Amino acid sequence: MNIYESITAIMAEGYAVSKDKKNQQQGFRYRGIDDVMNTFYPLLAQHKVFAVPEVLEQTREDRQTTKGGNLIYSVLKLRYTFFAEDGSSVSAVVIGEGMDSGDKASNKAMAVGMKYALFQVFCIPTEEMQDPDATTPEPSKPKQDPDKQYICADCGKPITTIVHKDGTTRMTAEEIASKSLEVYGRKLCMACSREAALNRAQAEIVDKVL
Ligand SMILES: [Zn+2]
Repeated sequence: MNIYESITAIMAEGYAVSKDKKNQQQGFRYRGIDDVMNTFYPLLAQHKVFAVPEVLEQTREDRQTTKGGNLIYSVLKLRYTFFAEDGSSVSAVVIGEGMDSGDKASNKAMAVGMKYALFQVFCIPTEEMQDPDATTPEPSKPKQDPDKQYICADCGKPITTIVHKDGTTRMTAEEIASKSLEVYGRKLCMACSREAALNRAQAEIVDKVL
């Protein structure tokens, strides 16, 4: 059988992925990856079809929960190629998204991607299209780099923390910003603060001379 015959044969068998798993936080029912695998494994094996995943693109983002915890957000563009016994194949490109506070964001993204590749290639009817994950992370926003909160009023560049050669902080961006605001009336980076100091010194000399 070629891949077209194999896939249509699997579809023709008719099946329903069980929906007895519950989302832990929100309580809605979902079709877990295990449900999908348990249903598909015998059908795929019987029809001698297997899928090979490839990660085409990856985007990762560090996020912060409202409680300050870290979250890794991983978005994968995945290609699943389904091969039949005769070597013929079809591919499906899907997006998988996963969030995790540890090292499982990409694993989750791959699991979700596989599930949706199977859903879509085999046209599995889905009665509910809610979040497919077993857990729903608390709302989050992109992580703020504290250094990016201060922009120099003169040159427009971010005011950055100054560190000693041994890596310890000499002056934080916040300290530089508040000090320059106090002395010069605007938030300035280190270089522009020096320039402002020179200009002021020159002005004072001119005042004295004239
Ligand atoms: Zn500046």
